[in-house]
Amino acid sequence: VLVNDVSLRISAVAASQYPTDGWPEIALVGRSNVGKSSLTNRLINRKALARTSGAPGKTRTLNFYAVENELFLVDVPGYGYAKVSKKQRAEFGAMIEAYLTKRSVLRGVVQLVDGRHVPTADDVSMYRYLAYYELPVLVVATKMDKVKRSQFNRSESMIRKTLGLTPATRVVLFSAQEGFGKDAVWDWIEAHMAA
Ligand code: GDP
Repeated sequence: VLVNDVSLRISAVAASQYPTDGWPEIALVGRSNVGKSSLTNRLINRKALARTSGAPGKTRTLNFYAVENELFLVDVPGYGYAKVSKKQRAEFGAMIEAYLTKRSVLRGVVQLVDGRHVPTADDVSMYRYLAYYELPVLVVATKMDKVKRSQFNRSESMIRKTLGLTPATRVVLFSAQEGFGKDAVWDWIEAHMAA
């Protein structure tokens, strides 16, 4: 995929701010620090358009990145972080749930998990949630440059088993650092834009 024109359209704190262009949207979800900003920057060939978060969980907006006037990549704030109040967490959860379950232009969700570890309980809950709402999901294992190639099959099996992936759900092993996995992620996004 050639990505020339990308910009942050809006960091939305309310549904009333979501874009009304009608372009398809692909959401990116994952725990704080999983490598979501790094993946986003790698996908769009930018060094630092998406913030890499020094303070986990600080970003609590839905960030809409406009790609080539045809697609929005939507950065959904990281789940499973500690430093927010119960009230904040509830409000924030409601906004995300409404986005994921009611947004008509949402075509699919890329769920990131840390490829170095077994998926967490939060990861499992998130996948079940997405599966329950029958959203197409691509699972991306991040930071795979830290995993030996000889362990790749094992990592994928562990992720499949722990998340309880349906056989049709794809897993892409990815490294923002080295760049591998990027084309497979774009292929999946393109395949789901029309749907
Ligand atoms: P976010 O909180 O999900 O947006 O995560 P970031 O993109 O900010 O990354 C969190 C940390 O993981 C940073 O220190 C990154 O440098 C590191 N990181 C992200 N992607 C990779 C990767 O592919 N390989 C390695 N080795 N580190 C990564």
